[in-house]
Amino acid sequence: MSRQLPEQESASTPAFYHELVDSTEKGFAFRQRYWLRSYLGYTPVRDALPNTTHYALAALQYSSIIPKLITQNVDGLHHKALSSVWNTAHKQERILELHGSLHKVHCSHGHVMDRATFQDRLSAANPEWKTYVDELEATGQRPRTNPDGDVELEGIAYDSFRVPECATCLAENRHNSILKPELIFFGESIRQDVRDRSYADIEHCSRLFLVGTTLATYSAFRLLRHALELKKPVLMLNIGPTRADPLSGLEKIEMSSRIVMRDAVRAVLGSRVDDDPIIERMLRSGVVQPPSEDD
Ligand SMILES: [Zn+2]
Repeated sequence: MSRQLPEQESASTPAFYHELVDSTEKGFAFRQRYWLRSYLGYTPVRDALPNTTHYALAALQYSSIIPKLITQNVDGLHHKALSSVWNTAHKQERILELHGSLHKVHCSHGHVMDRATFQDRLSAANPEWKTYVDELEATGQRPRTNPDGDVELEGIAYDSFRVPECATCLAENRHNSILKPELIFFGESIRQDVRDRSYADIEHCSRLFLVGTTLATYSAFRLLRHALELKKPVLMLNIGPTRADPLSGLEKIEMSSRIVMRDAVRAVLGSRVDDDPIIERMLRSGVVQPPSEDD
């Protein structure tokens, strides 16, 4: 849970979401810019691999020690760590993406498509930009990206980029190019069903384990507060100050998850690690990264 978004449900947040779904000329230009950046930045998002913490948590999920996982991450890496053992429906049932996912796109009428499919549609609509992306990939170059998969560009004209219309809307005789990724943006509320499910997960759990989050977003913080109100035992693994620090009733370990998680999971699972080749493999998998500040 390392990704941090600004507080979600405040009326004073910047109007980024409103620009993205704006049906005027201005909104059209905004989406052109947004989707061009996203188009160019998609390859590293698509190719990102889970780290050792993702796999250690996956081992606990697979062993049913962690029946439900709520993540603030939007990169889909918790899903990827379980891709060889769980199908899509199983992953959706066990993992809740509180702030959405980079891997889905939806139109303003609620039609959803896979981000990879949308990438193909963007390529088809913009052959000249596809050539540019192909060249980048062929030479091993990558545009500079931020964690959202957005690209920093200089001197590139956005107005040549074409955002395709939603195919489902088109089949219903409606022109609609108001498409956005299934992410929570500035000024956008978390969907009611996601919010309800996050509360239900907290209410049904026997205990809560928080990994790598400062709980800067209110949507995550209020779940912790709810767990404490219900007298659930809470353990937090995080380095540095967090929004939860003034609260009483939780235990905190100031260590990097990337350093301790594998060994901790080995200790929890004991002989199951050697008895189950899937768990054993999970605890050997994952990109090893140096601990970061918010890890
Ligand atoms: Zn549509």
